[in-house]
Amino acid sequence: QAYVEIKGIPFVKINNQQLLHDHLYPGIEAKKKLFVVTANPEIVMAAEEDEDYKQILQKADYVIADGIGVVLGSKLIRQPLPERIAGYDLMYQLLEKANHDGLRCYFLGAKQDVLNKAMANIKIKFPNLVIAGSHHGYFDINDASVAQDVKKTDPDLVFVGLGFPNQEKWIHEHSNQFSQGLFMGVGGSFDGLAG
Ligand code: UDP
Repeated sequence: QAYVEIKGIPFVKINNQQLLHDHLYPGIEAKKKLFVVTANPEIVMAAEEDEDYKQILQKADYVIADGIGVVLGSKLIRQPLPERIAGYDLMYQLLEKANHDGLRCYFLGAKQDVLNKAMANIKIKFPNLVIAGSHHGYFDINDASVAQDVKKTDPDLVFVGLGFPNQEKWIHEHSNQFSQGLFMGVGGSFDGLAG
């Protein structure tokens, strides 16, 4: 897989369809453990100021260019990334895959009422996916009990909407307990799904 490094962050040089069909879908089907980061310019800037966060992003399986600013940055250094892949769109595509295959999804993050509304809409739009579990996003990210709850539900996909950098820090801190599952930080996407 080819990468374009921007401010020390390795972005995968890939378009949306290749990412899904050549990487994420086969990875999910093979029950691999995957860590996906959708990085916008704010995230790249935060990583410049926070070495721990930068190292976490460097260890992710896929860092995706979420934001036209990242794509423009890649053009300036003459290593153009093919396109922007918005985090919300990628989450939506994975929910469609989960609906198609009856996958188990865990939703972690946002305020409880927002999360409830988002899950009610998910049940309507994606009736065949399994909501394995959920937890609101207002807890101490070092608290291992939330990760244990996630683990008990044996999810295929774990969507973590705590905002950056905490969502990636939570995934990095706790995903070592898991042997499988696609983990992805989704920022404010639950607010979007709640409508
Ligand atoms: N959030 C959370 N716990 C916190 C802080 C934020 O669950 O301690 C949630 C918040 O409710 C919102 C999301 O994280 O759903 C952050 O959204 P925002 O749009 O601020 O983040 P971004 O998309 O820029 O990462």
